[in-house]
Amino acid sequence: MLNPRFGLSFEDLYSIAGLARIDAAFASHLGEAESALRARLDAARADPASLGRLGESELLIALAPHVEDFLAELFAIEPEVATLQAAQRELAPLFACKRQVVQRKALNRYKADVAGGFDGAALRDELEHKLGVALQGIPGELAYARQVGEWGRDEAAHADDIELALRYAAWAVQTPEGKSLHKAGVLFKAPRKLDFLRLIPVEHEQRHGVDMWRMPADHLRRREGFALTDPGTDLAGGLDQANYCIWCHEQQKDSCSSGMPEKKPVEGSTAPFKKSPFGVILAGCPLDEKISEFHKLRAEGWALGALAMICVDNPLVAATGHRICNDCMKACIYQKQDPVDIPQAETRVLKDVLALPWGFEIYSLLTRWNPLNLRRPLPLAPTGKRVLVVGTGPAGFTLAHHLLNDGHTVVGIDGVSLRWASASPTLRSATSAHYASRSTIASWRASAESPSMGSPFVGTRTFSS
Ligand code: SF4
Repeated sequence: MLNPRFGLSFEDLYSIAGLARIDAAFASHLGEAESALRARLDAARADPASLGRLGESELLIALAPHVEDFLAELFAIEPEVATLQAAQRELAPLFACKRQVVQRKALNRYKADVAGGFDGAALRDELEHKLGVALQGIPGELAYARQVGEWGRDEAAHADDIELALRYAAWAVQTPEGKSLHKAGVLFKAPRKLDFLRLIPVEHEQRHGVDMWRMPADHLRRREGFALTDPGTDLAGGLDQANYCIWCHEQQKDSCSSGMPEKKPVEGSTAPFKKSPFGVILAGCPLDEKISEFHKLRAEGWALGALAMICVDNPLVAATGHRICNDCMKACIYQKQDPVDIPQAETRVLKDVLALPWGFEIYSLLTRWNPLNLRRPLPLAPTGKRVLVVGTGPAGFTLAHHLLNDGHTVVGIDGVSLRWASASPTLRSATSAHYASRSTIASWRASAESPSMGSPFVGTRTFSS
């Protein structure tokens, strides 16, 4: 249940008047914590354009931790949110060590040809003896990161220990044996240089006198309908990507979001976007999602704040992210090495929030009320207009969402087999054999038009034809 301290009811999550009460509760919560920030929020809502892009990013980043605190308190889940924050903090030494020790020191000191000559097993034995734990998985990598951090406090006294750690890191990152041992971790990895003609590994074989190239068996992922072909990354993997990002919004160069311009535009014109070596236009995220900003929040340990940031531009993140599109990655500032894996990082944020008690309600709430959305923090009043959205792919369902929040009643239709619907008992019954009868369509239309569904929360209705 919602925390009674706010005097709100669960039904408030699902009505415009209730959401306005939630917004007011947030404003006073913010005012109590930081009155100057509350004043900045009020001014920004009155005139969002006056902030400029960087000013808006800075304001939203300052607000996001307050959104996280408020949501934790609103849903009375402070202990669970604190546990998630602590789990993120706990992993922080990994990313500092990766940047400062593994990538800057070890890989600069020992190139691949030298590291290939090291006796990795012997180095590992000696290191494990000093660490007192197996150098395996995230716990082993964390022990390494913490211990190297300790040794670094007195480098002169621990010169031999540090040398051992650097040699091991160089071996682990650059040799096939080391890579295989640390495949599941994050510490002993470096971004690959991109060779656009060899983006994926292939193996050659000859069958019946014919040359063939195929993916290595451990790389093959067979697609079944709309299901994901991999389980997605874990918390350490998501944080690894957020820390790999260099938060380009601070220089207003976040090409993942706004695209990679060819050259500076002539005043009054728009610069064309660069193209990838395959001729793909590097226009960045089609939704202009605040990617750099959510990475910064995530790296600083604010999962709920990061999700609020994502939801400003991409409220249907549950359907995009790791599942659909990677235009953002293609336009990442890293063009010559692995780009930041934004979809994985984004989906991990969502999964971590969904795993909290009331996680679904929190995500759902942020798609209707979002204080980081300066232009439309709340749904608008019903307009009485009804809109038919034809085609409920990512563009269609995102459009439908915005139309709903703009106060219109929306009916969505789609002409393809909605295989994913079979996972949902409600939709399964309505889309048996992936085809909906005219009566089903009529009943959806009736429900969309009924007075009880006449609010902006009708939701889209999808069906096959
Ligand atoms: S994802 Fe890439 S382009 Fe975007 S902010 Fe991070 S490093 Fe920069």
